Amino acid sequence: MDIIIIGAGVIGASLAFEAANLGTSVTVLNAGERVSGTSGTSFAWVNAHGKTPRDYQRLNDAGIDTHQELQARFPHHRWLHLTGSAEYRHPHDAPALAAKAQQLTAWGYPTHWLDKETLLAREPALARDAVPTTPVLWCEREGWLNTRLYIETLLDGVIDGGGSVATTTPVASIIRQGNRFTGVILASGRALYADRVVNCCGRWADCPLFQPDLAPPLSSTAGLLVRVPSAAAPVRHVLITPTFDIRPDGPDQGAPYP
Ligand SMILES: Cc1cc2nc3c(=O)[nH]c(=O)nc-3n(C[C@H](O)[C@H](O)[C@H](O)COP(=O)(O)OP(=O)(O)OC[C@H]3O[C@@H](n4cnc5c(N)ncnc54)[C@H](O)[C@@H]3O)c2cc1C
Repeated sequence: MDIIIIGAGVIGASLAFEAANLGTSVTVLNAGERVSGTSGTSFAWVNAHGKTPRDYQRLNDAGIDTHQELQARFPHHRWLHLTGSAEYRHPHDAPALAAKAQQLTAWGYPTHWLDKETLLAREPALARDAVPTTPVLWCEREGWLNTRLYIETLLDGVIDGGGSVATTTPVASIIRQGNRFTGVILASGRALYADRVVNCCGRWADCPLFQPDLAPPLSSTAGLLVRVPSAAAPVRHVLITPTFDIRPDGPDQGAPYP
């Protein structure tokens, strides 16, 4: 089977890698350079936390397991950093955090409470005054993903398996034969054909050029990601705070994956 995947973010790269491993002939087409979409500016918190209803939480929890399984296949490309996450709130929001923890515990998701001193021992770079005295929710299964390394490694795996990855190759429209999607027209005018076409364009997936009835109902929200050099006092875990979330970054976080 031949498959064309439009978009090479975390979704397109993951699908392409899995399809190639199943013996599918894969062509990935991406409008920009590698890691140029939302995945390149993501906070990339890997978590199953604050997710409802139960089935959605279970899906996210299973996702953490799958991340670990995939990472274990690439011990020398460490993109997954399951450092644990710590969440603290203003005192007036503490009851809502307690209710969330109670639900996670009822669902069998491992959490526990840290006191202020324990968090400060784990995160010595935090300003003492910035951490409230209310309990801190610790979720040990969680962490963050180096999305660039993840995407680059999986796309390289697709190429190694005989597939192709074309960057700066925007798709202008999708070719349709009845109810089947059998190819794409590139912005250059060239047509490519396949047995299946998958739209992995993230926030651009509802592009009207892809035929209006193919557009999934999307609703974009704004996010802001700031990268700050901090070699002298890096944070060590994912921290979810009342004002912003913060985590480590960079290629050298930790030893090769066990
Ligand atoms: C600030 C911020 C923080 C976030 N934090 C988290 C978080 O903590 N945890 C979490 O799980 N998620 C988080 N997200 C969301 C997450 O990053 C996205 O859901 C995810 O990266 C989307 O991946 P994707 O592969 O669907 O899309 P993208 O990464 O956007 O990839 C889509 C690709 O499609 C390509 N494309 C578009 N149109 C075309 C075309 N016509 N032809 C060819 N290619 C095309 C684009 O160039 C792009 O490379 C965050 C997002 C932001 C912005």
